[in-house]
Amino acid sequence: MLKMLKLKPALLHKPGPQVTQEISACIGCNECLLACPALSEPITIDVLNHETIAGSISPPVARFARACYQCGACVNPCPVGLHRDAMMMWLKVRLLRSEREE
Ligand code: SF4
Ligand code: SF4
Repeated sequence: MLKMLKLKPALLHKPGPQVTQEISACIGCNECLLACPALSEPITIDVLNHETIAGSISPPVARFARACYQCGACVNPCPVGLHRDAMMMWLKVRLLRSEREE
């Protein structure tokens, strides 16, 4: 009976390889960041893209990851149809994992 009530876990974020693939398609136009209401300090798209998928996460990028509230305002302006909101979700996952390792 309990087995029947067990729910499948929700898919909360795209897997890392998929995010890496999307970031490789990014043309660096910055439109997503211009549309973002949560970005409060300058971060270049190159740094954001790099730190979303690899290496350590700098304090400004970590603050941006925490400030992102998944509003989706960054999605429509992207000329190549990428989902910055999903990339940010993955960045949040990386940030949480890095904090757990400290
Ligand atoms: S989803 Fe996050 S990154 Fe995108 S516009 Fe909203 S706050 Fe900014
Ligand atoms: S709007 Fe799209 S292509 Fe432009 S920087 Fe953002 S994710 Fe990359």
